[in-house]
Amino acid sequence: MARTLVVGNWKMHGSRQMVAESLAVLSAAAPDLAGVGVAVCPPFPYLQQAAALLAGGPVRLGAQNLAVEPSGAFTGEVSGPMLRDVGCHYVIVGHSERRALFGEDDRLVAQKFRAAHLAGLQPILCVGELLAQREAGDTERVIASQLDAVLALCGDQALADAVIAYEPVWAIGTGKVATPEQAQAVHRFIRQRVGRGDATPTILYGGSVKPDNAAGLFAQGDVDGGLIGGASLVPEQFLSICRAALS
Ligand code: PEP
Repeated sequence: MARTLVVGNWKMHGSRQMVAESLAVLSAAAPDLAGVGVAVCPPFPYLQQAAALLAGGPVRLGAQNLAVEPSGAFTGEVSGPMLRDVGCHYVIVGHSERRALFGEDDRLVAQKFRAAHLAGLQPILCVGELLAQREAGDTERVIASQLDAVLALCGDQALADAVIAYEPVWAIGTGKVATPEQAQAVHRFIRQRVGRGDATPTILYGGSVKPDNAAGLFAQGDVDGGLIGGASLVPEQFLSICRAALS
């Protein structure tokens, strides 16, 4: 079965030249990728350039963060309506780097999830445990509390058909990928916890996905695609991961 979505998180990398070159490669390859949704999330300053380059094509645009408020005296912030205005479809919320380095707690992440919806954006909610939490047998408890914060603020149905990225923190940017079985177990847990009736979330795996491990991860029944960091900066690697999602 074709997986549904592969998203590149460029983090704080790139330049106008890199945006132009990468998106030219992606756009040229996109017709061969029908069957898998593809999106890229460049840094804020490049969103408008990326939107122009992707206009009319199948590759969607996302941002990496948003403010809780739609507008106002919040120096340095970027709101959901602004992201929508420049052509974003997705926005990442709750990435572990935002949680660890910028003090975003579960409640703030839930507020950002709600703000994204209110702006007409599709949030990609990141959840994941630290290595110490996994080793203590706390993985499901941690993931559940991250999910429950969103359900508490946004309602019981809020995640039923959401895009959720399971990103074990110990696997992000470390080269230590979760085994397909570890990923599958957590994805199954997430699906059971937030699915409602026929509604089921799209659950991406993120954390050191590379061309040589993508197929094994995507072969798992509850892995619907990937959120890709480092490898999304190299168009050939990102495309190879997208192709793995097709098979
Ligand atoms: C990420 O930042 O979301 C990520 C998964 O990074 P990497 O693929 O580099 O581990």
